[in-house]
Amino acid sequence: MDIKNRIAKLKDEVIELRRDFHRHPELGFQEFRTAGKVEDYLKGLGIPVKRLANTGVVGLLEGESDGPILLMRADMDALPIQKENDIPYRSVNKGVMHACGHDAHTAMLLVAAKILLEYRSRIRGKIKLLFQPNEETVVEPKGAEVMVREGVLEDPRVDAAMALHIWTPLASGQIGTAAGPVTATLNVFKILVKGKGGHTGFPEQTVDPIIIASSIVQAVQTVQTREISLLKPTIIMFGKIAGGTKSNIVPSQVTLEGSMRYLYGGGEGSEENPEGRLKRIVEGICAAHRARCEFDVHMENRAVINDPQMTELARHTAEEVLGQKGEVLSYFSTAGEDFSEFTERVPGVLCFLGAGNREKETDYPHHNPRFNIDESILPVGVEMHVRSALNYFST
Ligand SMILES: [Zn+2]
Ligand SMILES: [Zn+2]
Repeated sequence: MDIKNRIAKLKDEVIELRRDFHRHPELGFQEFRTAGKVEDYLKGLGIPVKRLANTGVVGLLEGESDGPILLMRADMDALPIQKENDIPYRSVNKGVMHACGHDAHTAMLLVAAKILLEYRSRIRGKIKLLFQPNEETVVEPKGAEVMVREGVLEDPRVDAAMALHIWTPLASGQIGTAAGPVTATLNVFKILVKGKGGHTGFPEQTVDPIIIASSIVQAVQTVQTREISLLKPTIIMFGKIAGGTKSNIVPSQVTLEGSMRYLYGGGEGSEENPEGRLKRIVEGICAAHRARCEFDVHMENRAVINDPQMTELARHTAEEVLGQKGEVLSYFSTAGEDFSEFTERVPGVLCFLGAGNREKETDYPHHNPRFNIDESILPVGVEMHVRSALNYFST
């Protein structure tokens, strides 16, 4: 039987698995039920498993001959969001929801493992099936970081890594990827503007941190519009601004919190150096207005940089999977992804699997309370996993 027909026969199974995970979403490092189901499924197939990072699961699928080690990753965690859409398999865990598609990632990789076992003779090496906790980083540290620290890339040493992300901004039938950066580096920053408090009737006696903070919000936007090429996307956003107690009091300080995302550069050594530019403007404005300031920036995720050869393999596989009916796009996003922990260490590729369909109301953005996916693409994802692995071992 050819691969497409074999997967078509398992369509109900992958949908059922996904709905089961969807009904029982769990937050980062609390994926006890999900990890238990993953473990049982893999053990049922005869694949040896071990636990890493507490709720992470790694299965080792051995081919019939020796060769390289391929890591295939699915994340399992959900988000602290109360679901708003009414579906028969809605979440039973109040305030927790699979709003990023990780339920589908887990289901697709499990069914892919079942099929890959049937093609063991074509696997010249081993596959590490990685089911990762806490990709959304609801608590520090990131799930991928802990798995790497606990040795997931060693014993046996991993040679290459692959992952798929369900993606509702792309339509069902599309798969997007590109060589180079495909997700953004995410920095979180905090600025404390320290002025001098006083009476709003006598502004000359104060150093007003509110007007300084508003200058900062406006001025730092020039980092992306005047200092860094527009061909190198950079986003600076403020998510929180706090200061003051009453309309006629000038507060003594204001705090600003925000995030900065970019695909290229990062750090002092880079040409773009977005953090350095942000800091220079913030400190310069504070100094110009006689205020003191504290600036703190913390990197949450680095960009996922797709390896050119692995990307070529994925693109070629996507064309094979989608055929004439689908579309393979050159695509990247400003989202953050901790798959970068793997692509920093081994050649890897992340692909975006389109799941947006207006008629099925699955075109809501990720992390939205009405998020859902077009389940007809689940077999496409399974086939993408299966064929990518087989193509990897045949090169
Ligand atoms: Zn997400
Ligand atoms: Zn995600």
